Amino acid sequence: MTELFRELSEISKSRIERDVLLSKKTTFKIGGPCDIGFFPETVEELKDALDICRHNGLLSYVMGRGSNLLADDEGFRGAVIFTERMNGVRIDGERVYAMAGMGLTPLSRTVGESGLTGLEFACGIPGSVGGGIVMNAGAYNGELSQVVERCTVLRNGETVTCSNAEADFSYRHSAFLENGDLVLEAVFRLEKDSPEDIRRREEELLLRRREKQPLEYPSAGSAFKRPKGSFAAKLIDEAGLKGFSVGGAQVSEKHAGFIINRSGATSRDMLTLFREVRDRVEKYSGIRLEPEVRYLSPKGEEAI
Ligand SMILES: Cc1cc2nc3c(=O)[nH]c(=O)nc-3n(C[C@H](O)[C@H](O)[C@H](O)COP(=O)(O)OP(=O)(O)OC[C@H]3O[C@@H](n4cnc5c(N)ncnc54)[C@H](O)[C@@H]3O)c2cc1C
Repeated sequence: MTELFRELSEISKSRIERDVLLSKKTTFKIGGPCDIGFFPETVEELKDALDICRHNGLLSYVMGRGSNLLADDEGFRGAVIFTERMNGVRIDGERVYAMAGMGLTPLSRTVGESGLTGLEFACGIPGSVGGGIVMNAGAYNGELSQVVERCTVLRNGETVTCSNAEADFSYRHSAFLENGDLVLEAVFRLEKDSPEDIRRREEELLLRRREKQPLEYPSAGSAFKRPKGSFAAKLIDEAGLKGFSVGGAQVSEKHAGFIINRSGATSRDMLTLFREVRDRVEKYSGIRLEPEVRYLSPKGEEAI
């Protein structure tokens, strides 16, 4: 790997690092090293990183802010392309053009200060625009599908514009989760409002988060998707699993919908706890919960 890394460093257009610890890049604070990390700043640099991976037979994986991701303790045997430096934003009237790596919270702040409403719900979601679109992130009756007009994606090496309808958004789902498209940029269509009112709404939502969610511990947000006609937290609570733990991983006592890294949890602790909660809830209620969190194994994404 040393020799390959040296060669790649010479040809890569973007910053490149060896053995990037995924525990430093995920909000769970779990995960071993990926062999190589690319940190592109532009679409061109990102395409170049992907080309390099393809030509050198390296597995590649794209990561936004790692806020919906459980990475394995063994890390990832390949290259992770981190979009965190692709964070430009441009406002043109009521349209906002944001690069994939832009954080959703800073984005909602920026547009709010410019007097554009529609993204207040995203204030407090620690993900990126790309990860948010792929997951159709949402909260408090808002979700990105309501404000995304279109996005630009990389599909089989080609840049393609995808309309909102083509993205096939539904609850915590987009077409990109299945077709492997890489989101490069999104265009949001917002409306005018007073920056003070927007700010007030954002602060209210942030306060609700602080009151209800265990933000004092590392987590990846809601562990499971909301099942039809119920709430994951309610089912987990009713199954008596609040506070239930495996090693350092625990169902939050404050909010049963969150699984937290209480102290030094391993990826194995997490996987076991996720599966145990799913099985016990199913036994208790007959409803099988579906994890919202994605799992990155050393070979790529796998089901939890
Ligand atoms: C404290 C906390 C609170 C949260 N609250 C909410 C909430 O209210 N609502 C909500 O919906 N979520 C919430 N989340 C979860 C998370 O923030 C969202 O799912 C977010 O959209 C994930 O974005 P990310 O950039 O971190 O994605 P990552 O975790 O980096 O990646 C998630 C998935 O998206 C893929 N991906 C990332 N970037 C791209 C790209 N550019 N193109 C293609 N695929 C890509 C990854 O490969 C992976 O499959 C919360 C998380 C935490 C820790």
